[in-house]
Amino acid sequence: MSQFLFQSCAAIALTPRAVQILFPLCQTGDVTLHIPSSLASEITPPQGSQIYESSLKDHLTAIWSQYRAFIFVAASGIVVRLIAPLLAHKTEDPAIIVIDPEGQYVISLCSGHQGGADQLTRLIAQQLTATPIITSASTSLNLPGIDILGVPFGWQKGQGDWNGISRICVHQEPIQVIQEAGSTLWQKSLPTEHPFYFGFNEEISFKGRIWITPTSRRFAPSSDIPKVQWHPRVLWVGIGCIRGATQEQITTAVQQVLQKSHLAFEAIAGLATIDIKADEIGLLNYAQSSQLPLKTYTAEILKTVTVPNPSHIVAQAVDTPSVAEAAALSAAKEYGEAVLLVQKQVTEAVTVAIAQAEIEYTGRTGYIGLVGIGPGNITQITPAAKTAITQADVIIGYSLYTDLIQPLQHPAQIIESLPITQEVQRARRAIELAQWGLSVVVISSGDCGIYGMAGLVLEQLSVMGWDGNTPQVEVFPGISALQAAASRVGAPLMHDFCAISLSDLLTPIEVIEKRLEAAAKADFVTAIYNPCSKTRIQPLLTAEKIFLMYRDPLTPVAIVRSVYRQDEEIILTTLGKMLWSHIDMLTTILIGNSTTFFHENWMITPRGYLKNE
Ligand code: SAH
Repeated sequence: MSQFLFQSCAAIALTPRAVQILFPLCQTGDVTLHIPSSLASEITPPQGSQIYESSLKDHLTAIWSQYRAFIFVAASGIVVRLIAPLLAHKTEDPAIIVIDPEGQYVISLCSGHQGGADQLTRLIAQQLTATPIITSASTSLNLPGIDILGVPFGWQKGQGDWNGISRICVHQEPIQVIQEAGSTLWQKSLPTEHPFYFGFNEEISFKGRIWITPTSRRFAPSSDIPKVQWHPRVLWVGIGCIRGATQEQITTAVQQVLQKSHLAFEAIAGLATIDIKADEIGLLNYAQSSQLPLKTYTAEILKTVTVPNPSHIVAQAVDTPSVAEAAALSAAKEYGEAVLLVQKQVTEAVTVAIAQAEIEYTGRTGYIGLVGIGPGNITQITPAAKTAITQADVIIGYSLYTDLIQPLQHPAQIIESLPITQEVQRARRAIELAQWGLSVVVISSGDCGIYGMAGLVLEQLSVMGWDGNTPQVEVFPGISALQAAASRVGAPLMHDFCAISLSDLLTPIEVIEKRLEAAAKADFVTAIYNPCSKTRIQPLLTAEKIFLMYRDPLTPVAIVRSVYRQDEEIILTTLGKMLWSHIDMLTTILIGNSTTFFHENWMITPRGYLKNE
């Protein structure tokens, strides 16, 4: 199910009812249930459950470091006492979530922001159709937590007074944001009321400051206001070295250059060098131990890069006048404009140069969720689709739909609403953000694979030579308009049926007519999508004509507009009188087959059972 958040969660149940409550979470295989042996003998434990013999206190101590999150079904007092001795610091503690013994409320108890408990609480509440209880102050102000702001973009936290700045934020006091690097997408989804001021403003007395920068700043402990620094990973470190240069020599050389130029290690995106160094043990070990990617380039590529300090000697040795500078620039250029920030610094065994890229390296694997949100009421969305929406970094969709799912959104999410006509742009944008490493959902009304965005995004990916895996794609079905409409009028789709869109924007009218004729002739119950717009009426007139050629004018027809929305309208009529009603682009028309009938206000297509009685 959910790709990131449910990983490595333990659920603790002490009663049969608690096991029942947790069952939907354990079913997915992502949450491991832990139960005492006394309980295990009373019930049939779900597959994969872990049974413990010791006291819960001892068991918890034993498994504490194995999980990122613990979910308890118990009184919160008991949980508080159990976890108190185990808590260390909010940067390392697991998320703690408590569900009340009736399963009505899900409480984010501890490690709300950094531990992800708030987010997990929202997801679990959706899974269990319970109410999430989140008490983090920034959430109630609808602000993204400052300490998680850069997570979607892979930014790293630097030194600073993180608690202090969060306090200032919660009190809505003015905070100065000086952003020198990294994405500004987070700024675009802030609520209208927020405490952030961007850049310099001498008239305001700021109570806190956030730097978003590759530079590393030392804040004096006596500093007047709390300051923090986020480091987007924009620095590419170009490295040239002699054969056999040790990991230590490389580490020292990089550290020295960073220190001298006041750049943050956390801002390093990766390392770059010439391909013949791809097997240099010291360099490989350095890359691995600092968890940095290592990019290599051929001499052919490197010698095309203009650098400030080309060297004849280097050119003679490796067939390019620059390794460190040219490699740093080549890597940075893969992420937009590149600037050589630090020219090459030569030590005995190692040469280092640093280039800054325009766009940060996220270090994350992108994801696209193609989500159908149903006809337009939040109760008609599948729990899996809700989960996908809640956990996404970015939601892309037509504004009417992003508004409909607002209750599922959380403050740190980026919402991109594009006008209804810009489907192709929407698909490309989703792919672009996912390729960059973000987790994106593209939402469609109804089902995303029925006249929705799923096909378009997949088609676009295939045009781009997608390998089928990266970015990872998942499709979440939704209730399509034909099912939603049918459910409001009875059971008209009980026998073979088809859907036909009358929109001739993407389909030639001759094709539409051919399909209408085939459907009418073959006695399919037919759902008409996109029936008519202000300027496009003819296809509907043609549809009526074609159906009347093959079906009785008394054939039942349902005209269902804005189904499951506040302005829902339902008209039951007949084929002969169909066009007397108000029909527009928010309408789905269901035309019955030759056996469909009305009973009171219900439209029924027999499956055939009663015929055999
Ligand atoms: N993916 C959507 C279809 C999008 S095409 C789905 O699976 O339902 C748009 C057409 O869908 C509209 O012109 C209308 O015919 C139908 N439609 C979408 N939402 C609807 C609703 N709430 N009520 C009635 N028809 C709807």
